Amino acid sequence: MADPVCERLALIGVGLIGSSIARAAREFGVARHVAVMDSSPQVVGRASELCLADIATQDYAQAVGGADLVIVCTPVGACGDVARSLAPHLEKGAVLSDVGSVKGAVVAQMTPHLSEPSRFIPAHPIAGTEFSGPDAGFATLFQNRWCILTPPENAGAAAVEKLRTFWMRLGANVETMSVAHHDAVLALTSHLPHLIAYNIVGTADDFGDETRSEVIKFSASGFRDFTRIAASDPIMWRDIFLANKDSVLEMLGRFNEDLSVLQRMIRRGDGEGLLEFFSRTRDIRRSIIEQGQDTAAPDFGRRVEGR
Ligand code: NAP
Repeated sequence: MADPVCERLALIGVGLIGSSIARAAREFGVARHVAVMDSSPQVVGRASELCLADIATQDYAQAVGGADLVIVCTPVGACGDVARSLAPHLEKGAVLSDVGSVKGAVVAQMTPHLSEPSRFIPAHPIAGTEFSGPDAGFATLFQNRWCILTPPENAGAAAVEKLRTFWMRLGANVETMSVAHHDAVLALTSHLPHLIAYNIVGTADDFGDETRSEVIKFSASGFRDFTRIAASDPIMWRDIFLANKDSVLEMLGRFNEDLSVLQRMIRRGDGEGLLEFFSRTRDIRRSIIEQGQDTAAPDFGRRVEGR
């Protein structure tokens, strides 16, 4: 096995993402020593039971002291408080990163607390599930998934390289882009779809009991896939929409315009227009499968009894 990328890794927040990094870092020999820290005593206790790290603690100094790579894996809304708490314990020369789904707000919250901002390299692994907590994580979560780095203009080259190598050793493909570009792209590819899912499931919930039970019964006709997304962690998603407000509202505006176009085609009986539109979207699905970002198996790869 190749040498570890870091001597001592500290992960702040041991939920789905933090615990997956801890598992992968150990399994793939990416860190010689792993410390995990969480504000919740239950989570720290569970992390110990699961043997996720060499140290599981509620104490910032114990987790961050001596670490050459520190990754904040808490909800986006907590990042500012976390940066203030961990900053006094950061080793000189340590690389600091995060995994937040929004970058602009995280950078704005964290940077003012740091004495070496050029060593803060924000990151976002585009990998996850609708589950939360330390039990939900798994070591292969990042395999063949993208991880986007958004280094500041004055970022130390060695710090960026260390983080890039770290994520590649966890199995991810790494791409670099600006904070603003990241937030615009993710508003469309992740945040808007979640908003639509929350909305459509909320609409179904507003119906009376009889209709609601039919929605559940016949959900395999499309609704079920929205319910999976709409089951995502409420705190995480509240934070994402508040933190990426401008980009999400911009994409929502475009979405509404396009929806009006579809609405008009349906009203006018424009079958040709609908066919052209749906053929174009089908091509996007094909490209996603070709690039290995999803499975081509029927029904999203779900195993169905008797099939
Ligand atoms: P999660 O499973 O809810 O885990 C977050 C953990 O952070 C929880 O154990 C939470 O404890 C803890 N925490 C909250 N505030 C803290 C603080 N001030 N100090 C220390 N620990 C604190 O969330 P997740 O899904 O791993 O998401 C973590 C981050 O990854 C988020 O920023 C999210 O945007 C990003 N992300 C998520 C996904 C995804 O699909 N889930 C994908 C990519 C990136 P409590 O439970 O006690 O609050």
